[in-house]
Amino acid sequence: MVILMNKKRLRRLQKGKEQKGSIVYWMSRDQRVDDNWALIYGYNQALKNKSPLIVYFTLVPQFKEATYRIYKFMLEGLNQVSQKLESLNIAFVLKLGYPEILVPQFIEENGISLLITDFSPLRIKQTWNERIKEKISIPFYEVDAHNIIPVWEVSSKKEYAAYTLRKKIEVKIGAFLEEFPKLKKLRKIWSENTSPIEWKKLLNKVEVQKTEFIDTEFKPGEEYAMRILQKFLKEKLTSYNKTRNDPNEEGTSDLSPYLHFGHISSQRVVLEASKIKNVANLKNSFYDEIIVRKELSDNFCFYEPKYDSFEGFHSWAQETLNTHRNDTREYIYKKEEFENAKTHDDAWNAAQIEMKTTGKMHGYMRMYWGKKILEWTQTPEEALQIAIFLNNKYELDGRDPNGYTGIAWSIGGIHDRAWKERPIYGKIRYMSYNGLKRKFELQKYIKTYL
Ligand SMILES: Cc1cc2nc3c(=O)[nH]c(=O)nc-3n(C[C@H](O)[C@H](O)[C@H](O)COP(=O)(O)OP(=O)(O)OC[C@H]3O[C@@H](n4cnc5c(N)ncnc54)[C@H](O)[C@@H]3O)c2cc1C
Repeated sequence: MVILMNKKRLRRLQKGKEQKGSIVYWMSRDQRVDDNWALIYGYNQALKNKSPLIVYFTLVPQFKEATYRIYKFMLEGLNQVSQKLESLNIAFVLKLGYPEILVPQFIEENGISLLITDFSPLRIKQTWNERIKEKISIPFYEVDAHNIIPVWEVSSKKEYAAYTLRKKIEVKIGAFLEEFPKLKKLRKIWSENTSPIEWKKLLNKVEVQKTEFIDTEFKPGEEYAMRILQKFLKEKLTSYNKTRNDPNEEGTSDLSPYLHFGHISSQRVVLEASKIKNVANLKNSFYDEIIVRKELSDNFCFYEPKYDSFEGFHSWAQETLNTHRNDTREYIYKKEEFENAKTHDDAWNAAQIEMKTTGKMHGYMRMYWGKKILEWTQTPEEALQIAIFLNNKYELDGRDPNGYTGIAWSIGGIHDRAWKERPIYGKIRYMSYNGLKRKFELQKYIKTYL
């Protein structure tokens, strides 16, 4: 039976000619089988048209600054996706190469009738969509499977701050925060012969850099993500408010790598959290992060084409940073010095090492880390470039709207307000070493990583 689904979760990218044939979900950002609206939409269409459903993945040999560790995490997760899909009679095809070439080719060679993809606001994915559109004539849909309220539905413009989006979310969330349907085995399976995926060899075929730190304690996949979520709900949610800003405590959820790769949906996280009783007021601060802050990042990257450059900052921030452009800097470091944690500041160096070794820097230190890059580089443009490079290269959850927005917040005051004017920062919010000391046991944190 076809599953009811809120049609506002999808956007038609191209009308196209209706024809008979298999349906393709080109999976990209939401690499999971459960709780995935893009897969659910494909499944519905397959049932309606009595056609097979194929999940198609294009493994780009080089993606931004992603390294071997990041590809390894992703490929292990995809291997699990392929096995789970098999049990539902849904084919999984993975090809090495670029989507704008591979997707149209696959459609042409296999007489595909409909193309679906999941949504990402990042320029690279939006450009791939545009290029694919030019080359195909079948209908093409985009489904927002990453946000609880689709980005185009919650707001039609770039939001100024969390409080402006929060109000809109409060009005609309009731219509979207629903339980996900479970998929059953499809009757028809795509029967073309494709060569089996050689998972172990794939990693050697990508053209990415092997860094010093290859292993991470984070284990990929949907099942593991659910385990992390359950542990968080059981052991940490009630104290989240108190411990989340202390880098010595394991007080946050650690879900960001899983949310980034789509191994878990934020809607599932919120649905499970809302089952926990007696923590209503404490839950709010967690909701504010996983719903408001997270969806605000997608809003920023979707409506601000220059989300990764100085021109993407608000005019007050550009003005104040320009006023202080020529201020004397006490310390100036090159990209390599930042990368190798060779600054004079042991707290900053510890945070950089935490990110390099574990693949995830604590959220509180990320703010300090970003702001000090502004303070210790020659221009805000250079600061932005270095911060994005390091964040994308070393964070498992990097290359994400949350990363671009977090960096734009730290360096360019995005979603923040003007503060007391000071050298270099102008009116951008400042953070200090002494401030860290007041907030938590800084020496303990430094000792952990240095
Ligand atoms: C300079 C800088 C860089 C950042 N880079 C990234 C990045 O590359 N990828 C990334 O996912 N987040 C990034 N963040 C946001 C935030 O620090 C992380 O999401 C958080 O630390 C992840 O840890 P957690 O899952 O344990 O968080 P929790 O506190 O458990 O929060 C749960 C979830 O809520 C969302 N969330 C929490 N804080 C924020 C926030 N400030 N903005 C947006 N969403 C938030 C995330 O999806 C997170 O996984 C960055 C922030 C800054 C200041």
